[in-house]
Amino acid sequence: MKAVKWFAPRDMRVVEIDEPEPQPHEALIRIESVGVCGSDLHYYEEGRIGHSRITDPLILGHEYAGIVERVGAEADPELVGKRVAVEPGIPCGKCEWCRTGHYNVCRDMSFPGGPPHDGALREYIAVHAGFCYPVPDILSAAEAAMIEPLAVAVHTVELGQVKPGATAAILGLGPLGLLTAQVAKLAGVHTLYGTDLLDYRVDAGTRFGVDCAFNAVKEDTVKTILRETKGRGVDVVFDTARSSETAGLALQVARPAGRCVLTGISGEESDPMPVSVARRKELTVQWCRRFRFNFPTAIELVASGRIDVRSLITHSFPLERTCEAFELVSNSSDGVLKASIDQ
Ligand SMILES: [Zn+2]
Ligand SMILES: [Zn+2]
Repeated sequence: MKAVKWFAPRDMRVVEIDEPEPQPHEALIRIESVGVCGSDLHYYEEGRIGHSRITDPLILGHEYAGIVERVGAEADPELVGKRVAVEPGIPCGKCEWCRTGHYNVCRDMSFPGGPPHDGALREYIAVHAGFCYPVPDILSAAEAAMIEPLAVAVHTVELGQVKPGATAAILGLGPLGLLTAQVAKLAGVHTLYGTDLLDYRVDAGTRFGVDCAFNAVKEDTVKTILRETKGRGVDVVFDTARSSETAGLALQVARPAGRCVLTGISGEESDPMPVSVARRKELTVQWCRRFRFNFPTAIELVASGRIDVRSLITHSFPLERTCEAFELVSNSSDGVLKASIDQ
């Protein structure tokens, strides 16, 4: 079968590999759609995220959906023939964190598309059947692949402990920021600020629930939000950017005793942050690591029409043109929000 392997920064090639054989607890999935994520881009461009570095050729891709072709002897046979959104990270299930509800920070997590585990940019994958979530028929494959980033947005907003009528800001209006904007509004945010460095994403912000969206190149993020909130700052700040600067900005635009949720991945080992600002305001700074138990909610939000993932998918490419898709997203060309690889 065909797969796309990363060999070096900006060098991915279609290769032939063996079709996987599902283990007793696994499902064999014919992959239909894989979304290109900001974290994939770090690997694509630099071969690393912080100290997590690709050493051997690797298949990227972790936002995916497909049809269950067959299952192993111990897996649920009802899954066969169903379209599933797959929760990509498989935790060990045994450690202290897995047993206390924090499986997303399991140290033995096997996460596809992060070294050394191959990801989903291929025709078939065998995965733990317990992490395959059937989706209603009304969801297309590309929409089902969006359940993964939506689960991140749901977890992000849940960590923000948003209260009805709250004010909030989102720094970074890429797909994750635009999903977070929608979920934040559903959770009760009243006035939502949003920034990005690209005009077309600022415009997208206004379409997806941001009340006051502006370009952070043209207007100073901190001054603008403090001016608009009469110096108070916002209750909750979500950092959804792929940047080293936004965490520091988040601390500055949060109100005293406010909360910052840092979800975006800068790709660096350390980012600068004005810690004295955070201390004087007694901020709660909450990092977000992917998601935990959020797939059912994410599916329900899309199936019920309350969250629009479809309009975020602006580009589709076949597997053979995966590199083009990554270049497009890497260069933010052609108004791209989410690009997906469909087969
Ligand atoms: Zn992702
Ligand atoms: Zn574990």
